[in-house]
Amino acid sequence: MNKIKLLPTNKEELKERGWDALDVIFVTADAYCDHPSFGVALLSRFLEAKGYRVGILAQPDWRKRDDFLKLGQPRLFFGVTAGNLDSMLNIYTSSLNFRKHDKYSPGGLADLRPKLPTIVYANRLREIFPKTPLLIGGIEASLRRLSYYDFWSDKVRRSILFDAKADILIYGMGERPLFEIAARLAQGEPVGGINDVRGTVISRSSFSFLENPVVLPSFGEVVSDKHKFIRAFNLYTHELDPWTARPVVQKTDTRFCIQLPPAEPLSEKEMDELYDLPFSRQCHPSYDKFGGVPALKTVETSITSHRGCAGSCSFCSLSLHQGRRVTSRSMASIASEAKNLAAGKDFKGVISDVGGPTANMYAVRCLIDYKCAKEDCLWPEVCRNFEIDYDRQIQMLGSLRSLEGVKRVNIQSGVRYDLLLLPKAQKYFKMLCQYHVSGQLKIAPEHVSDKVLHLMHKPPFKLYEKFLQAYKALNKELGKDQFLAQYFITAHPGCGLDEAKLLAAFTKKLGYVPEQLQDFIPLPMTRSSVMYHTGLDPETGKPLTVAKKGSERALQRKMVQGPKKKPRALNPLT
Ligand code: SF4
Repeated sequence: MNKIKLLPTNKEELKERGWDALDVIFVTADAYCDHPSFGVALLSRFLEAKGYRVGILAQPDWRKRDDFLKLGQPRLFFGVTAGNLDSMLNIYTSSLNFRKHDKYSPGGLADLRPKLPTIVYANRLREIFPKTPLLIGGIEASLRRLSYYDFWSDKVRRSILFDAKADILIYGMGERPLFEIAARLAQGEPVGGINDVRGTVISRSSFSFLENPVVLPSFGEVVSDKHKFIRAFNLYTHELDPWTARPVVQKTDTRFCIQLPPAEPLSEKEMDELYDLPFSRQCHPSYDKFGGVPALKTVETSITSHRGCAGSCSFCSLSLHQGRRVTSRSMASIASEAKNLAAGKDFKGVISDVGGPTANMYAVRCLIDYKCAKEDCLWPEVCRNFEIDYDRQIQMLGSLRSLEGVKRVNIQSGVRYDLLLLPKAQKYFKMLCQYHVSGQLKIAPEHVSDKVLHLMHKPPFKLYEKFLQAYKALNKELGKDQFLAQYFITAHPGCGLDEAKLLAAFTKKLGYVPEQLQDFIPLPMTRSSVMYHTGLDPETGKPLTVAKKGSERALQRKMVQGPKKKPRALNPLT
């Protein structure tokens, strides 16, 4: 496994491969980790397997021109990304203080990425290589593909495509659009003529070439009128399904920002081929002196089993980025990755995680093949057409447990507790508690007030109480002493002091302060960010309480957490 070569990151490594130039250079704000949990690693290995020569410029110093010249000029394009996490989340805490650590940097060092690297790196590349096609993508670009509310500047901003001065923005999962663009550029097509690739956003002076577009209120209108801002949101969130979506257009100054329909998700076979590619699962050796990259350590022995999330929680960016259709890998492909892991000399017998955005959404599907207009398959209740193949989940996890050298298979990805309560899920739920909880199961009730939960698109609190009882009973039956890691959000729109009091009373009853307590952060383009910015519920138009001032947000947190974090006590639920 360790003999797999990393992709070149400088001229010497290029020479070692006997290459004089690259086809594609990815520029990323994360350290270079050749592991399938890192978007750049996945896409670079994908293009490499398609026959392209790919290199990586990881965390270039944006103040130094030479850092962008390390790999020369690519034959086809530069692909710029902020990395696995939005840079603003990476740099700032929810109270807008600087974070001291960056787990996607060597040794956890902060200060190795600028704010909004998508813009900063792209602008640098434009200056140095004005004629080379420039693509941007990843979660940061994806969530800023149309005009959006920016929490950090408290402003509505235009699509990041304009600020980055890029040719094409790729949103969602990038394999299909990247491959198509690479192939067309390789055939000599000019980048400015590429008008029709799904999963991309482009800027044009006219949109007359589009069939049946959805025209949003212009950027100028959404800046000055909150109702138009809501209208734009309600329009674009109806255009997220690859099979039914129409192109979306938003006039921005004198140009038109055009979002083409989303790319089709990969099939099971394509997912298998992608994750079966050779990954060394290591970071670049230049990081060894810093003790490696913390984010890699947490996923070293984890396995991705699927993509997508059928839920659409208001505060979450996943359904906007990965889509609601879940695509899963075959059991054979997952087992083969696990076998390779187990054969590694450093493997200690534990697979740290098998999951995706939500662990228990492996092998789910819609019985009518997603031919419906709903955006959320799980809200206000689980749809009757939403089917989970629990037998396959059970079989898949069982096959991993039985592999030679594997002592434990943990599930660390979050689990949707409402799905665990379904009658068909009981065998799976028991197996989960029996074999796959590593001390604590990650659960995200998010709040206890039904008013807030409704706005969040989360199940009502009574369901959570039911889950708590079921979890307690199961652990008792199994003779286990296992905890819950419970995630809560304070100061979400709709949460005033009365609702914060309810949450405080609940945690007091628990007898300990949950460690996973987070002040709400409105992520760009999400339903919750629309509520936060406009003070209105985008579904009903009704006004909402919104805690915006730092002091109001801090008060809500203090009410739940108390003045000082108490030491973690034993979870009385089990
Ligand atoms: S029918 Fe139900 S399961 Fe299918 S896409 Fe619509 S909400 Fe989701």
